[in-house]
Amino acid sequence: MHLYTQLRMKQKEFFYEGETKKLDFRLAQLEKLKAVLKENESLFFDALAKDLNKSKEEAFLTEMSMLYQEINHMKKHLADWMKPEKVKTVATHVGSQGVIQHEPYGVALIIAPWNYPVQLAFSPLIGAIAAGNCAVIKPSELTPNVSRAITNVVNAAFPQEYIHVVEGAVEESQALLAESFDYIFFTGSVGVGKIVMEAAAKHLTPLTLELGGKSPVIVDKDAKLNLAAKRIVFGKYLNAGQTCVAPDYLLVDEEVKEEFLTELKKEIKRFKEDKVKKGKYVRIVSDRHFKRLVKFLDEGDVIIGGEYEEGSLKLEPTVLENVSMTSALMEEEIFGPILPVFVYKNLTEVFSIVRERPNPLALYLFTENKEVEQKVLESLSFGGGCVNDTVMHLATPYLPFGGVGESGMGAYHGYESFNAFSHRKSILKQTTKFDLAVRYKQNKLTTNIL
Ligand code: NAD
Repeated sequence: MHLYTQLRMKQKEFFYEGETKKLDFRLAQLEKLKAVLKENESLFFDALAKDLNKSKEEAFLTEMSMLYQEINHMKKHLADWMKPEKVKTVATHVGSQGVIQHEPYGVALIIAPWNYPVQLAFSPLIGAIAAGNCAVIKPSELTPNVSRAITNVVNAAFPQEYIHVVEGAVEESQALLAESFDYIFFTGSVGVGKIVMEAAAKHLTPLTLELGGKSPVIVDKDAKLNLAAKRIVFGKYLNAGQTCVAPDYLLVDEEVKEEFLTELKKEIKRFKEDKVKKGKYVRIVSDRHFKRLVKFLDEGDVIIGGEYEEGSLKLEPTVLENVSMTSALMEEEIFGPILPVFVYKNLTEVFSIVRERPNPLALYLFTENKEVEQKVLESLSFGGGCVNDTVMHLATPYLPFGGVGESGMGAYHGYESFNAFSHRKSILKQTTKFDLAVRYKQNKLTTNIL
C-alpha cells in the first residue's frame, strides 16, 4: 500500500474515533498551534530570510500576525458557529423542525504555494482544525527552508494520525492528489489549479481553489493622489510583488496621470530608502522566476526603477509605460515588482480592459467620487478588493477571501474557513405526536401545497 494511502487511512481511522469533532479538542488544538507557532517564530523568520530575504518585520506583519489573529478569531466564535442552525419550515412540514449541522469533511489535503509559505500553509490548517478535520499539508518545494521548518515543527507537535506534513514537489503533490481525500484546499497558480480540480473530479472531492490572476488598480481623477500612490506602493512592492492580490497593472485617468506619477516616484523613493537600501527588500524566489521578470522589462519603457542584480535575484520597484495590451506582460500574472501604467479617458475604457481578461482575484479603486465607486463595484466581477486601499481586505477575518471565475473557487478566513472545511448537513426532525394524512394522498390539496 502506498505510504500516502496509509497516512490517509490512519487519519481517517482517527477521525472516526470522534475526538476531532469535540469543541474542547478543537479549541485545545488551536491554542496548541498558536503556542507552537510562537515558540518557533525565530525558526520561521530564519527560514523566510534564507528562502526569500524576507525581513523579520515583514514576516511578522504578513505571515505570523495574521495567523495569530485568525486563531484568536476562531477561538472566540467557534462555539457559536458549531451550534446547529435552526431554520423555518413550510406548511406541509408542520410539527417538524429544520436543523443545519456543520460536520467536518474528514481528512483534508492542503497544498500551499511559496510566496507567503508560512501563512498560506497554516491559515487553511486553522480552518481545518476549527471545523474538526484531520489534515495533510504539502508545502511548496520552492521555499525549501520554510518547507523543512514547517515539517519539523508540525510533525513534532501533532500526531501523524491528526495533522501531518508531507514535503515534496510535483510528483509528491500528484501522488497525494491521486488519493481520495475528503476535502482539498489548494493555493497556487491557475494552471496547477486546473490540474488539482481534474484530480479532485476523479473522486468527486469538494475543494477550494485560491488562485491568482491580473488584479487591476484604478486611479480616478477624484482620488487623493498622494495617498493612492502610498498605498499602491505598499501593496505592489510588498514581498517584491510576489503577492496573489498585488495590483498587477495600473489604470489612471489621463487628466491626473502626470501628477499621480510624480507622487508615485516620491513614494517609491521612500520605499527604497526604508526597505531596499536597508537590505530588507524581498528577493525573487528563483532564477527561473527572475529571468521571466527581467524579460518583461523589454515590453515597455521603464519610467521608474528597472535595475536588477542577477546574483542576489533582486529586481528594484519598477514602473513601465507604453506597454502593449497584447504583450505577454498583459497576458500573464506579473507576480513581481513591475507595474505597467495605462491611461484611460472614461470608465467604459476601464471596463473593457478589465473584461477582456479573466475575472481578477482583486480589484482596487482610488476615488472620492461615490458615483464612480458604485459604477465600478456594480460593473466588474472580481474576487474581492478595496476602495482607497490595496491588499488590506485579506487581512481581516470578517471578510471572505477568494476568487471568482479563473481566480478561484470558494473562500476562506474567519467564519468562511470554518464553513469551507464543513459540510452543512440538513436534518428534518419530524414530530411523532401526530401524522398528517394529507401527504399520503395525491389529491388536489397536496398538489396545491406542493
Ligand atoms: P504553483 O501552482 O506553481 O504551486 C502551488 C503548489 O502546487 C506547490 O505546493 C507545488 O508543489 C504544487 N504543484 C506545482 N505544480 C504541480 C503540478 N503539476 N501538479 C500538482 N501539484 C503541483 O503556485 P506557486 O508558484 O507556488 O504560487 C504562485 C501562484 O499562486 C500565483 O499565481 C499566485 O497568484 C497564486 N496565489 C494565490 C493565493 C490566493 O490566496 N488566492 C495566494 C498565494 C498565491
